[in-house]
Amino acid sequence: MNISVVIHELVCDNHQPGCSLLDVRHEEAAIMDQYQEFSIAADAQSMLKKAHDDGVVTAWDRARMQQPQCQFCKSGLSCRVCAMGPCRIDPHGKGAHYGVCGADADIIAARNLSRMVAAGSASHSDHARDLVEVLYSVGKGKAPGYEIKDLEKLKRVATEYGIAINGLSDKELAVKLAESMMEDFGMKKGRVTFVGRAPKQRIELWEKLNVVPRGIDRETTETMHRTHMGVDNDYVSLLLHAVRNSLSDGYGGSMIGTELSDILFGTPKPGLSTVNLGVLKEDHVNILVHGHNPVVSEMIGLAVEDGEMIKLAQSKGAKGINLAGLCCTGSELMMRKKIPMAGNHLMTELTIVTGAVESIIVDYQCVMPALGQVAQCYHTKLYSTSNKAKFPFMEHVEFNPENAKEQAFKMVHASIENYVRRNKDRVSIPVSPVKSMTGFSVESIVGALGGSLAPLIDAIKAGKIKGAVGVVGCNNPKIRQDYGHVGLIKRLIANDILVLTTGCANVAAGKAGLQVPEAKNLAGPGLKEICGLLNIPPSLHVGSCVDNSRIVVIACALANALGVDIDKLPLAGAAPEWYSEKAVAIAFYVMASGIYTVLGVMPPVGGSTNVTKLATSGLKDVFGASFAVEANPDRAADLIIAHITEKRKGLGLSA
Ligand code: SF4
Ligand code: SF4
Repeated sequence: MNISVVIHELVCDNHQPGCSLLDVRHEEAAIMDQYQEFSIAADAQSMLKKAHDDGVVTAWDRARMQQPQCQFCKSGLSCRVCAMGPCRIDPHGKGAHYGVCGADADIIAARNLSRMVAAGSASHSDHARDLVEVLYSVGKGKAPGYEIKDLEKLKRVATEYGIAINGLSDKELAVKLAESMMEDFGMKKGRVTFVGRAPKQRIELWEKLNVVPRGIDRETTETMHRTHMGVDNDYVSLLLHAVRNSLSDGYGGSMIGTELSDILFGTPKPGLSTVNLGVLKEDHVNILVHGHNPVVSEMIGLAVEDGEMIKLAQSKGAKGINLAGLCCTGSELMMRKKIPMAGNHLMTELTIVTGAVESIIVDYQCVMPALGQVAQCYHTKLYSTSNKAKFPFMEHVEFNPENAKEQAFKMVHASIENYVRRNKDRVSIPVSPVKSMTGFSVESIVGALGGSLAPLIDAIKAGKIKGAVGVVGCNNPKIRQDYGHVGLIKRLIANDILVLTTGCANVAAGKAGLQVPEAKNLAGPGLKEICGLLNIPPSLHVGSCVDNSRIVVIACALANALGVDIDKLPLAGAAPEWYSEKAVAIAFYVMASGIYTVLGVMPPVGGSTNVTKLATSGLKDVFGASFAVEANPDRAADLIIAHITEKRKGLGLSA
């Protein structure tokens, strides 16, 4: 029976001032009884139960309310590119086989997918642009609180950009590099600088296919142009440009984002931190940072360490201020400062449900607009900081390089003041934190190996490490939370495959105890031996979503060291629980780099036989890599293990 209820009104007896009712219709009020099916994580399960008891609606409830989801959209056969539509087509059935303009399934699916790549590339790249602007402002002396933390890397990257560094002050160098990177966004250079990091063979292939990215913004703009009605109506041509667009992200926006974050905030080094909701402290002011760009969170990190702020917190009855992260901003802080990580994408609402969070300060990307609704039921204050990312029920505190320090202190101050509004009877911190190792930048991996990748190559040749796999990406309520990540990682490490994690996969692996050196005991004998020698986990936290560029840099360096193209190496990528358009851009540039990629959620292309065939097999003939879709982590592991075995044979190595 369908029961429509305003669930919040029924069960919330503790409205905070300004609390508005959540007018959400539930098919079944009892849905939350299924919370154990929603996540493998104890903290999530416990908070889902509390959310149910508190009358709070979460992403899982809303996902349920969307069922059944539109099959046209799901298979990529709906189009709303122009006002003659929207069109929905049914290529194999009795419905319309073409949109009003005549577009068929291949065109519509390829156009939709291309636009996902463009949105993902734009997101990473606009994030990078903000960092370029901070670097420029630091150079001009207009960014109080920010500084160059890794001068050696600034010089190294500037040299890679062809800048004569001798005789320049650090600030002049920062300005020069920022200006040169700005040119990467346009079309002045004709080729994005970091493409030069790819192996010679791969660059030649891209040149032959005409997919070398010319400028970061240029490729995204061209995708939007090509996908306008009446422009590119050849699905192969559309998808080849989507590849070019994604490469402008992987070797452009994302790579610039990673390198500049290291230059400005320090190149990460290995160390221990903690993860899960247990990182919240009942007797502290808890402040969470969420989003992607460390520009905001680094400054919040400074403010919470300020003696006056700590004294203020103590005057309000708290023992101190506890800063923790969410999603990729959390990964950035964890990598560099070992700040604890409260949770990944699907934990963001649940952190508020603990009743112990004084504020969440967000920048952008993956911030669910629902946070404001959930916060209405508790005392948590929410702050947005970017003028391009504003949200319902969030106070906006505009951040820019000039005012960042002042604004960070303002928000931390207000968060402390909010501590007295916490209702202690509603606080529940359900678990104890789990240790998790972090900080595996390219530099620190090379450092741990003794200064070069040679020991890793030797271990791969000897079969102690069979290969390496990047397990990356999000949570998606279509997949039991963290199950896809953890199930896959466990199988891979047990088969002597080294795992590199980024984004929300980090949190899943960390919570499952896979990111500490002791996890070597879950690895196969060869990987266990190497992890023991180096005192590293078999699953390495290499950073945030933009830091997938670190994985690409390692792949390029391995290929260059061996004198082969990347597609010859025993490598793979996986995004078991992806949801974001950014993940589509990442999957495209990883595949175009020559790395086989397994997705846990089907992209919306299944309605086009040609696009599906091209993605799952045709691309292999072109790029030496293709996609597979497999939601079951055991079967995904089987696919990857078989692929790595095949690649090892190709290199003349033992299986
Ligand atoms: S572009 Fe073509 S298929 Fe898309 S909405 Fe317009 S008419 Fe329909
Ligand atoms: S991994 Fe996905 S959900 Fe998580 S922060 Fe990155 S893009 Fe967002």
